[in-house]
Amino acid sequence: VPSFVAADGTLPRLEMEFTVSSKKLQTMVRHMVNEMRKGLESDGHMLKMIPSYVVARPAGDETGSYLALDLGGSNFRVCMVELRGQGQTAIRQSKHMVSDELKTGSGEALFDFFATCIADFLKSIGIDPKEKRALGFTFSFPVEQNAIDHGTLMQWNKGFACSGVLGVDVVNLLNKAMKKAGMNITATALVNDTVGTLVSHAYRDPQTFVGVILGTGTNAAYVERIADIPKWTGDRKNITDMVVNTEWGAYDEQSILPITSYDQALDRASNNPRKQILEKMISGMYLGEIVRYILVDLVSTGELCRGIFTPKLQTPYAFDTAYMSRIERDHSLELSDTKAVLENMLDVHNTTVQDRRIVKHVCELVGIRAARLSAAAVAAIITKMKRLDACTVAIDGSVYEHYPHFANRMRDALRELLGIMAENIVLEQARDGSGQGAALIAALHAK
Ligand code: ADP
Repeated sequence: VPSFVAADGTLPRLEMEFTVSSKKLQTMVRHMVNEMRKGLESDGHMLKMIPSYVVARPAGDETGSYLALDLGGSNFRVCMVELRGQGQTAIRQSKHMVSDELKTGSGEALFDFFATCIADFLKSIGIDPKEKRALGFTFSFPVEQNAIDHGTLMQWNKGFACSGVLGVDVVNLLNKAMKKAGMNITATALVNDTVGTLVSHAYRDPQTFVGVILGTGTNAAYVERIADIPKWTGDRKNITDMVVNTEWGAYDEQSILPITSYDQALDRASNNPRKQILEKMISGMYLGEIVRYILVDLVSTGELCRGIFTPKLQTPYAFDTAYMSRIERDHSLELSDTKAVLENMLDVHNTTVQDRRIVKHVCELVGIRAARLSAAAVAAIITKMKRLDACTVAIDGSVYEHYPHFANRMRDALRELLGIMAENIVLEQARDGSGQGAALIAALHAK
């Protein structure tokens, strides 16, 4: 407990509740490996372990230009990826806002919009849309995939609610819209963003066997032996491995995860209560909100800001995870940037240095817990794969990229979990995985 904390206050309790011991992490790794096994055996378990139909990783010598689409949240991206061999690529892309009207209109209108964006983009880079071409489609919504180029939407989220898409093959919708618009382009691969991240990084580094997203949400995909996917009923001939999408954000073992009253309050107030519990402890959408719950508690006990509330502080999701990054990066004596964040973002004025130290410490507790839980999840995958001898983990997302110390904290936790073997595990920042990965997968599956 830091010296500025009263021994009988709320902070020592927070310290206890948010600190995850090595032993606890080890228990989590063992349990998660077991849950992964169950999910690979049959459907309906905590971890969905969705086979991606991606059976090959790039050799690095693939060449040609491929189109890729990426629909994640509020933006739709069209990319032209030129594979130059030797792991080299060049990407040109355009980004399009998806309006609320499109998000809640008809599916046909949405896919027609995609087709228009593609045609405009191709024209802008001087390519005839009538040229024959393969395309990879990154579609980050829950789909039930039954072929590399076939998957039905199980549920919309992130504000989307287009009619006529649920239960329908989204690749077929896209292909129909492109055909209607007079294009000669065929979507040959439907890709989850974690799978895209893995494959895209493997193009440069063949030791890449895991792709992780630590952004708005969190998830991971890895390379599994087909023999270890008992629930796979498809062809096994000539297939040795398949990329599996774990959907690890759904991990929710109550007896292992250090779930606090703040986590419970956040979950109850969320629009998907009792779902995505691990995601709610480690991803960008939620970390700031956990901190906000704690700050509200500390103000209510009078331990922070002399007990004075501001409306902003009481507004759900008003404390963005990016503010935690700024506060954790503030090493000034008086914590002056922390002061600025509190004033400008939360309307909290007249803070003392003591207040700011407390706020910073709360951010540390929540940030360290997130990094350690993320590391345990990564360790579980590596343990399951039995690749402790050499493995690169490609990680994409703003939390990993921008949150100070996040990478180092993950690394420290991996050392506690794997000992000397942790030195064989390389955590690497991946960028633009979804575009490039989808293009590569389209290349690998183009007939
Ligand atoms: P997405 O996952 O939606 O594709 P990102 O990887 O950029 O996009 O993740 C966005 C999330 O990252 C948001 O929840 C946001 O709060 C968080 N975020 C953005 N910037 C930072 C930052 N500097 N530090 C920590 N978190 C950040």
